[in-house]
Amino acid sequence: MTDEIICPKCGSVMMPIDIKMPVGMICPSCNWSWATSYSSPMDEDTTVYVIRVVPCTNLSKAAMKLLSDISGKNFLYVHKQLQAGEWDLTSGHAWEVKEYADRLALLNIPYTISPDFKY
Ligand SMILES: [Zn+2]
Repeated sequence: MTDEIICPKCGSVMMPIDIKMPVGMICPSCNWSWATSYSSPMDEDTTVYVIRVVPCTNLSKAAMKLLSDISGKNFLYVHKQLQAGEWDLTSGHAWEVKEYADRLALLNIPYTISPDFKY
């Protein structure tokens, strides 16, 4: 364990909060801390988010394939929806939506998430 985690606030080397359960770090200088646990705020969020694809043209084959995969529809349907306007692609809980959103972003597919997605 030579990796040092630096406090983003003051630049000191962070210390584990608890040696027995190394799930969090605390800064000895300014007390800034973070902790990870198995129930993150995202896991506890029961909101159902909707991913909407914004109308766009010239999407790559890979992008079309991804939209087809996520929506469970064929290319023709995807193509039609993209021309028709905003399209409710899929909905789900925070962690699901996050995964989809990351994949959409990777392929430069414009989308919106509602309600406000804070992750
Ligand atoms: Zn600090």
